[in-house]
Amino acid sequence: MKIAVLPGDGIGTEIVAEAVKVLNTLGLKFEMETALVGGAAYDAYGHPLPEATLKLAMDSDAVLFGAVGDWKYDKLDRPLRPEQAILGLRKNMGLFANFRPAICYEQLVGASSLKPELISGLDILIIRELTGDIYFGQPRGRRIATDGHFPGAEEAFDTMRYSKPEIERIAHVAFQAARKRKAAGTEGRVTSVDKANVLETFQFWKDVVTEVGKEYPDIALDHMYVDNAAMQLVKEPKRFDVVVTGNMFGDILSDEASMLTGSIGMLPSASLNTKNQGLYEPSHGSAPDIAGKGVANPLATILSAAMMLRFSLNQPEAAQRIEAAVQKVLAQGLRTGDIWSEGTTKVGTAQMGDAVVKALG
Ligand code: NAD
Repeated sequence: MKIAVLPGDGIGTEIVAEAVKVLNTLGLKFEMETALVGGAAYDAYGHPLPEATLKLAMDSDAVLFGAVGDWKYDKLDRPLRPEQAILGLRKNMGLFANFRPAICYEQLVGASSLKPELISGLDILIIRELTGDIYFGQPRGRRIATDGHFPGAEEAFDTMRYSKPEIERIAHVAFQAARKRKAAGTEGRVTSVDKANVLETFQFWKDVVTEVGKEYPDIALDHMYVDNAAMQLVKEPKRFDVVVTGNMFGDILSDEASMLTGSIGMLPSASLNTKNQGLYEPSHGSAPDIAGKGVANPLATILSAAMMLRFSLNQPEAAQRIEAAVQKVLAQGLRTGDIWSEGTTKVGTAQMGDAVVKALG
C-alpha cells in the first residue's frame, strides 16, 4: 500500500502530520513518501506541481493531500498558482468523482447555524463530477491576462459541455454509492441536480441520468433544479440521500452542504478514478489566517485518511476504527477552536491527533 503524502501549504503540514500519526498507529504496513505541492513547491521549484510530485502521486495507490494556497500567490499567472496543482492531479490521475459526505456528529449538533432538529442525524453524500462542465470548456476573453484580469476587453465567456460517457460514468458511481448506503440502512435515493429548464447541457444530463437509472430499479431517482436544491439543503437537508451533479453546481452545493454541520474542519473528501486510485483531502483550504499556530482542526484530514483506507486501500475495518476513535474523542468533550463551545475542552492540533491515536486503543 503506497501512499503519496502531499501536505501543501498553510495548515496543510500541521493537519497531515496528525493523519500520518494516526495511520502509523493502525498496525498496517504502508509505504509513505512525502513531496512538496502548491505554494511550497512553487517556492522550491518554480511550479506548484513538479514532475517528481506528479510521478509520485501517479505511482501510488492513494494520495493524502493537505491543502494549498496562500494570498501571497494571488498575483501569479493562473498556471503557476498553488490551486493549479489540484487541477493537474485531477487531470493526470483521471479523478472524475468527488465524494463529499456531510455527516452531523451528535456531539456537534450545536455547532451548526441551523436548528438542531433539522440536522440531527444528517448523513448525506454529495457526488460531484470533476472532469467536465464549464471549467473545461473553451474559455474566451483572456486577451491580456498577465495578472488574471482583462483590461480593455468588452466581453468574456466560458462554454459548458458534457459528453454522454462522462455523465453515464458519474451516474453509475452515484447509483452504486446509493445502493451501498441502502445496504447500511439509508433510503436508497439519488437526487440528480441540474438546470435543465435553461441549459441544454443539463437537459442532456437529466436524460442520460434517467437512462442510467433504469439499470438500478432498487434505487429511487429524482431530479431537482440547482436553485431549488440550494434552498432545500438549508430548508430540509435530511430529505437527501445521495446527490449527484456537475462540476460547477457540485462545487457550490458541496460547500453549502459542508457548512450544514457547522465546521468545515470536520469534513473529509475523496476524489476517485476508475481504478479506485484516489486523492483524499479535507474539504477546507489552507487557512492562512491560523497557519503555524497549532490550532487547526485535524479531524477532516484524519477522516479523509479513513476514506482512503475504505475506498483505495481496501481496509474497511481500519477505516471504521478511525471513525469510531473520532466519535470517541468528541464524546470525551475535546474540541479544537472551530468547534469549541461552552463546557467542552479546547485542544490544539497535535493534542487532538494524540487523542485520536489514544482512542484507537
Ligand atoms: P479556508 O477553507 O482555507 O478557510 C476558511 C475559514 O475556515 C478560515 O477562517 C479558516 O481559519 C477556517 N478553517 C479552515 N480549515 C480549518 C480547520 N481545519 N480548522 C479550523 N479552522 C479552519 O478558505 P479560504 O480562506 O477561502 O482560502 C484560503 C486559501 O486556501 C486560499 O489560497 C484558497 O485558494 C485555498 N483553498 C485551497 C483548497 C484546497 O487546497 N483544496 C480549498 C479551498 C481553498
